[in-house]
Amino acid sequence: MQELIKKYIVPYFGGSNAEVPLEALDDAAVIDGIVLKSDVYAVKPIFFPGGDIGRLAVAGTVNDIAVMGARPLALACGLVLEEGFLIADLERILASMRECCRRVGVHIITGDIKVMEKGAIDEIVISVSGIGKRYELLDTNFSVVERIHPVTSRWLVDTNIYPGDIILVSGSIGDHGISLISHREGYDFKSSLTSDTQPLNGLVEKVLQVGGIVKIKDPTRGGLANTLNEWSEKSQVGITVSEESIPIHENVRAACEMLGIDPLEVGNEGKLVVAVTPPQAEEALQALRSTEEGREAAIIGEATDRSGYVVMETTVGGKRIIPPPAGDPIPRIC
Ligand code: MG
Repeated sequence: MQELIKKYIVPYFGGSNAEVPLEALDDAAVIDGIVLKSDVYAVKPIFFPGGDIGRLAVAGTVNDIAVMGARPLALACGLVLEEGFLIADLERILASMRECCRRVGVHIITGDIKVMEKGAIDEIVISVSGIGKRYELLDTNFSVVERIHPVTSRWLVDTNIYPGDIILVSGSIGDHGISLISHREGYDFKSSLTSDTQPLNGLVEKVLQVGGIVKIKDPTRGGLANTLNEWSEKSQVGITVSEESIPIHENVRAACEMLGIDPLEVGNEGKLVVAVTPPQAEEALQALRSTEEGREAAIIGEATDRSGYVVMETTVGGKRIIPPPAGDPIPRIC
């Protein structure tokens, strides 16, 4: 997907004067002080433990806006339905989207709907776009950062990471992808695997109050491995994480072992990875842990040098490089 975007999409649409343009390949774009994001959801199955395509679509777009340092302002929604799609299912999805919007504090204010002939698409595809406005509290916090940190953007962008920055995750990883594949393929792990799909704008707002926040990212497609490699590449830093500090639920770990999947590469839909300047790291951790969504938050590592590698210190005392995921271990989870 990344290669498709870089090779075929950016050459056609890159070159705008946006503050954060398409070619930055960040979580969202910024133009004239407005954060803009568009996303398409084609998850299978459309209802899964812990969520559904509607909740995923709203939360996914909201989270990409929030992690740029912006308050979600309004959403637009495009629905494409396969002919014969049950109205009862549609209403269930719409109710779920409305509930998620309520939690975020945002409305869907425009959109479109199309019905395609049977077999032309698989049940339903949802596109959600949204705009956001910069959190007021980001300003003051960034001036604190700038004194000790050569950050060049007014936004939380992938190029902001600097050697010494501390890296946290807001909770356990792999829950979304593993619960989906288990449910979809009928694996029975004798455990209650549940997706973490949830809006995270409240959590972003909470941690921004601490100050010193350099970048936040939702580790969706490609999981934590992809997020850390994007930061490493775009900020030209080495990143070291400690394996034992990365929270992974036991049932997810067991399922990953059985399926031969690296939990670091599994997509999440309700977690944040946060980079923060060292003086604020402990306070940022406590801020995350004080919330329901972030109660399992942990400091997992730091940006180290200019090497450009992501390295994991393993539980047995070794080191291994974490490469960017070569492919998607579990397709159609978002
Ligand atoms: Mg994102």
